[in-house]
Amino acid sequence: MLFTDLKLIKPILDALQNEGYEKPTPIQEQAIPSILEHRDVLGTAQTGTGKTAAFAIPILQNLTERKAPKNNHIKALILTPTRELAIQIEESFNAYGKNLPLRKLVIFGGVKQGNQEAALRKGVDILVATPGRLLDFVAQGIISLKNLEIFVLDEADRMLDMGFVHDVKRIIKLIPQKRQTLFFSATMPTEIQKLADSILNTPIKVSV
Ligand code: AMP
Repeated sequence: MLFTDLKLIKPILDALQNEGYEKPTPIQEQAIPSILEHRDVLGTAQTGTGKTAAFAIPILQNLTERKAPKNNHIKALILTPTRELAIQIEESFNAYGKNLPLRKLVIFGGVKQGNQEAALRKGVDILVATPGRLLDFVAQGIISLKNLEIFVLDEADRMLDMGFVHDVKRIIKLIPQKRQTLFFSATMPTEIQKLADSILNTPIKVSV
């Protein structure tokens, strides 16, 4: 299979070609069509399988094709446990979305919030965040998630290991019930499976 078989729009195909990607990885082949159809996805996949592109590419396409008028609401949130992962994910969105007008931002703790806050105030379509900093901004009234359309929980098992499950549950209470949810974890222990069951709506299961 080739990327051109996945019904992707030209600005994205051009960006993938620019990255030197020739064909989708197995997780991309499985997940991209379902995400483009606005289905929820439960993915069992490690880092290194191409899972970031598996969700970033169809999110970029769905937000490009959405019919609602342009506005300053955050439309997609990607929650990930570490600053390093957050930065990598934002870089992926920048690479695959370089020919699209969508605004992306990454926020994480451990640094002053001034620059992140200024960028948020200008308007962001796609936000990549670690849980603590996100909740800080919500508590200060700088971020609202009430118009969110797409929620990605990345590395759910690591979220659990790092003690973020309570924060994740708080964040889920702040986002609309009617949304698309994409849930990724390298492993599926019982507690992660339960979390997945509680936030996904008849998901397509993909595993690599
Ligand atoms: P990830 O699993 O998302 O951390 O991606 C692992 C690495 O694979 C990253 O460096 C990506 O740039 C690269 N990658 C993702 N998808 C593809 C693809 N279809 N072809 C070639 N490289 C890819």
